[in-house]
Amino acid sequence: MILLRDIIGHDDIIKNLRGALVSERVSHAYLFSGPRGVGKITAAMAFAAALKCQRPVEGDGCGECDGCRRVFRDLHPDVSVINPEGSSVKISQIRQLSASVQMGPATGRWTVRIVDGADLMTVEAANSMLKTLEEPLPGVIIILVSARPQALLPTIISRCQHMYFRPLLKYQLVQGMIRIAGVPEEEVLMAASLAGGSLGKALSLLSGGISARDRAYEVIRRLNGTVEEVLALAGETAGKREDVLVLLEMIIVWFRDVMLYNETDGRHLINWDRGNETEGLAGCFTTGRIVEIINDIERAKGALAASANVQIALEALFLRLAGKDPDVVRLEEVF
Ligand SMILES: [Zn+2]
Repeated sequence: MILLRDIIGHDDIIKNLRGALVSERVSHAYLFSGPRGVGKITAAMAFAAALKCQRPVEGDGCGECDGCRRVFRDLHPDVSVINPEGSSVKISQIRQLSASVQMGPATGRWTVRIVDGADLMTVEAANSMLKTLEEPLPGVIIILVSARPQALLPTIISRCQHMYFRPLLKYQLVQGMIRIAGVPEEEVLMAASLAGGSLGKALSLLSGGISARDRAYEVIRRLNGTVEEVLALAGETAGKREDVLVLLEMIIVWFRDVMLYNETDGRHLINWDRGNETEGLAGCFTTGRIVEIINDIERAKGALAASANVQIALEALFLRLAGKDPDVVRLEEVF
């Protein structure tokens, strides 16, 4: 259960939400935008709990009453989260949302509807949402959550109070990970460096990414083998799609570091504690080659995200990275 006061970072947003509650000037529609994993949904749920709390404290939930507990257990009749069905938020979902708020709340004053992935609303769904926003009902609060607000209709955005959640700073990620995951500071610092301001990503790196860094280095080192060895490496590496994507990202991080090592004074290396390995790799790859490599990996990531066969995609990628192109003509079709 994370209350508004527990949220890491976003101080101005939290202050604004709590102030709105205290002064009873809650907006009928909010847009929480910002990168993945920075706490948009967490903040939306905490705000919903504060709105439904029976004993609110300075615009925040108490965390103990029936109202707060039901919200956090996803059991409150007045609070619900709409998620995309498949790849989009459908008009039937938005129609259902509009219908469900007509009756007013079951308890207290507010009804809260949160739409996660709001940018994935179909055109019809977006138009239906627009109508709902144009005719706000007293006591109904709609929170749209989106990592790509630029994909929303401007007319929708203009009817919402827009709150932009910035990427978290490194110290905030560290704070969050120590609080949530309770792990040693050294590992936390590394994950914070790799996470690009996303606490969600930092936490997922902690549960697999640190060793993924070593596996990634091992893969790069072994690309130096024969065609058979490289294919065997692809076979060993193929596994769960999400794990492979993390590994590929780690490989990119290594190559970025090698490029920085080649081109700068190396002060901003992400794998700052692995100077020897970076120096070793820097002797083997020119900057031009690394740019090609990173492009190849990005394309492979795209193919994997679009559900290409993991092993075949890795075989094609690794052969390419290993500079064994002649055999790749057939596999090239994978990308
Ligand atoms: Zn409460």
